[in-house]
Amino acid sequence: MISGRDGPDILLCDLDAFFASVEQRDNPQYRGLPVIVGGSPASRGVVSTCSYEARKFGVRSAMPTARALQLCPEAVFLPGDMARYRRVSEQVFAIYGRFTPEMEIVSIDEAYLGFPAGKGEAAAKEIHRVVREELMLPLTIGVSRNKLLAKIASEMAKPNRVGTLWPEDVPALLWPRTLEMLPGLGPASVRKLNRIGISTIGQLAAAPLDLLQKYFGNSATVVQRSARGIDDRPLETIHKVKSISEEKTFSKDLADEKAIRAVLMAQAENLGYRLRSGGLLARTVSLKLRFSDFRTITRDRTLPAPTDSDLEIYQTARELFALHKGRPPWRLVGLRVAGLGSGQQLALFDSSGTAKKEEDLAQVRDRLREKYGGAVLYRARSLLKPKRKKD
Ligand SMILES: [Mg+2]
Repeated sequence: MISGRDGPDILLCDLDAFFASVEQRDNPQYRGLPVIVGGSPASRGVVSTCSYEARKFGVRSAMPTARALQLCPEAVFLPGDMARYRRVSEQVFAIYGRFTPEMEIVSIDEAYLGFPAGKGEAAAKEIHRVVREELMLPLTIGVSRNKLLAKIASEMAKPNRVGTLWPEDVPALLWPRTLEMLPGLGPASVRKLNRIGISTIGQLAAAPLDLLQKYFGNSATVVQRSARGIDDRPLETIHKVKSISEEKTFSKDLADEKAIRAVLMAQAENLGYRLRSGGLLARTVSLKLRFSDFRTITRDRTLPAPTDSDLEIYQTARELFALHKGRPPWRLVGLRVAGLGSGQQLALFDSSGTAKKEEDLAQVRDRLREKYGGAVLYRARSLLKPKRKKD
């Protein structure tokens, strides 16, 4: 009934209260205090992350900030600094990349890792130790044989621990738990099941399928399989990806070259971030332009050496734009990097090399900001209102 014994080990690595933990790490005066990172109460903002100290007061993420501050008036409230959290996230993913190339990034603070069967638990303990020692961040890792059980294992282990939930332990450890513990089962489904006398995961695992079909239709099988700890979803690792791209269509055609360059810079930063997060280097950069008559061109350039540098991607894009910009205005601008390959050899063979590389990257980023400034970005954003990336 329970499958998955033969597959690889899967880890779900989830940083605890990530934004709040970064703030507490970087501002020692906030340690031990309830910290809330979120949107301003004045503009109906919501809580993005809160520290475990704030959770004791009932504060939760996605709660209106105004409500959170009512519950916990003494909380340290911070608007957050997404650029800084992204840099820290890159450092964390770079550490994961030293242990395995099998990585599926779920979000800024969550990734699945794959290891050969039998190697996962030891790797998890080592990753936990390295993240604590090098980055001083709390991390929870769930270890199992599939993504579902790894996720549940991490929920059970939180915060700041390594936990396992092996398929053979599902009857003893998972089946006595209530339905809320099962990812993907919403409150409405839980209520429906409770009404027909199913309140534990074990009862759901044993329920007649035709009964479940009345409530879940075609999904009944998947729901019952997850109650039995079965999940066949593969890791969607980034190294299987051939190219990554960013595109922006303007709501009104744009004739300002500076604004176009600012968009290209933002796109280059996002592409650089995504490459570094996946431990990848790109060989080619291509620029896509659409003119007001809908004519669309793409122009490629192969780089002298593979890169994950924001600055190099941006400079290449800028040169391609200067060469092929044609006649304004422009309707769409896009950037794509391709010819992707693993950029982790350095990290595998030489840990001091890794540190050096990260230092270089940070310098490049700082230079980029110094040279072109947040002001340009800000101006472009206010001009063009590109969608903010959701983290
Ligand atoms: Mg987290």
